Amino acid sequence: MQNCEKYRHLMVGLLDRELAPEESAEVNEHLIRCSECREELERLRDTSSKLEAVAFEEPSDEVLRRLWRNPFSRLSRVGGLVLVLGGYAALIGFALFEFFTGGEDNLWVRVPVAAIVIGLLILLLLVILERLKTYSKDPYREIER
Ligand SMILES: [Zn+2]
Repeated sequence: MQNCEKYRHLMVGLLDRELAPEESAEVNEHLIRCSECREELERLRDTSSKLEAVAFEEPSDEVLRRLWRNPFSRLSRVGGLVLVLGGYAALIGFALFEFFTGGEDNLWVRVPVAAIVIGLLILLLLVILERLKTYSKDPYREIER
């Protein structure tokens, strides 16, 4: 057979447009005569276009911002918040239940309940303040949120 092995290497360069003009002329001339290499080139082209399709693109800030705004991440943030607050609410409910059904001098229940209620109020206030702050600064607030 002809010197196909040599042209296989050049074909990769041809696809990547990295060949000197005389080199690509050489490869093309070989491809005219060699059907095996033409098939090989098709395979290479197919593979490299697939590779390009899955190539990892480094996310730009814009992409990250869009991701942060997309409904799913918003949903998961809301979901996380609901879980945390729901857990707190359940804990407080249980503690209040203990508080009212427990004995008069149940200090070990009263103190944690007071701590949780105060802590929750502080957190809630912070969340609301943070929300107001980002809302007033958010240039996209007219679009769906
Ligand atoms: Zn060949």
